[in-house]
Amino acid sequence: MKKLPLHWQIVIGMALGILFGLLISSFSWGGMFVNDWIAPFGTIFIKLLKLIAIPLIFTSLVKGISDLKDISSFRNIGVRTILIYISTTVVAIIIGLLLVIFFAIALGISMLLIDSKKVKPLNKLIDGLNEVILKMVDLIMLMAPFAVFALLAQIIASSGNVEILQKLLIYGVTVVIGLAIMITFYLLVIYLVAGKSPGWFFKGIAPAQLLAFSTSSSAATLPVTMERVTEHLGVDNEVSSFVLPVGATINMDGTSLYQAVAAVFIAQALHFPLEFSDQLIIVLTALLASIGSAAVPGAGMVMLVIVLESIGFPADKLAIGLALIFAIDRPLDMLRTVVNVTGDSMVSVVVAKSLGKLHSKKSSSHHSIRSL
Ligand code: ASP
Repeated sequence: MKKLPLHWQIVIGMALGILFGLLISSFSWGGMFVNDWIAPFGTIFIKLLKLIAIPLIFTSLVKGISDLKDISSFRNIGVRTILIYISTTVVAIIIGLLLVIFFAIALGISMLLIDSKKVKPLNKLIDGLNEVILKMVDLIMLMAPFAVFALLAQIIASSGNVEILQKLLIYGVTVVIGLAIMITFYLLVIYLVAGKSPGWFFKGIAPAQLLAFSTSSSAATLPVTMERVTEHLGVDNEVSSFVLPVGATINMDGTSLYQAVAAVFIAQALHFPLEFSDQLIIVLTALLASIGSAAVPGAGMVMLVIVLESIGFPADKLAIGLALIFAIDRPLDMLRTVVNVTGDSMVSVVVAKSLGKLHSKKSSSHHSIRSL
């Protein structure tokens, strides 16, 4: 029998968790039973995700920056790309915010400046570490269907009603509206800068968007994004081969938007008062966390821990908060990944246009691919 895809397993886990929670809360001992015997599975899952957050940011940042080794030959493209990514994610303001991260950036840049032969072993080590950590995320995600069962059963059994689900729905809809606004913004930029229609853009990248939706991974989608942007939108290969891999690693507008909304939602749902300064910190750390998020399923939620911790969110409520949103995280992950991939594609069109490397005929882009 063919194995059910993970997202369906998760949906089933969620549904069973809700049913189980409703059923068991009709018994007087239900709440206690769930707390003692079911909830720990959810908590272990969240703890595992937290455990992996810091090394994940570290290796993906070092890798993202040190992979820019072509920066001298692509100076033009590099500077423009980075400028656009910076202006969409305001990196400059936030770099200093978290010293770990500062070290990772400094290390990445230093590695760029050293003779490539000398730095090769370190590159290999970081690459290897990055792979191992991503694999660990994969393995942890295997637990996801059981974890959502436990988490949802806990939420329902402890709240005793489905009111919380209504709140969750409002949160989900808010994220979706935000993501839709982002896509509209991209289309506007494409129209204003490249003079191209939404139809042209969607027709070009639709397969990449669909793949992003079904894999929830910008990294897994990258080869298709690359092919579509070059072959169908006419972006020169010289531009796309630089802009897209860097974008997949650091430019995640969908993720940062989601993290900001999720953090505010969790704070409100668990009655944690938010000052204006807290909201500002949320925006800044969400930008930072999205840069640090790996382009794999669920990474955005792992990094949410950092956003919440930055506003002093109590540690004992953290697991409950994450449990709350985890229930519907997968569909939101699918959608935010679409936005992430769309954003990278938009930037590659804009950079190509500004360099005169946006070809109208497919043949010219074919040529540039062959000439590589
Ligand atoms: N899954 C997203 C991506 O690959 C990252 C995230 O979890 O937000 O772009």
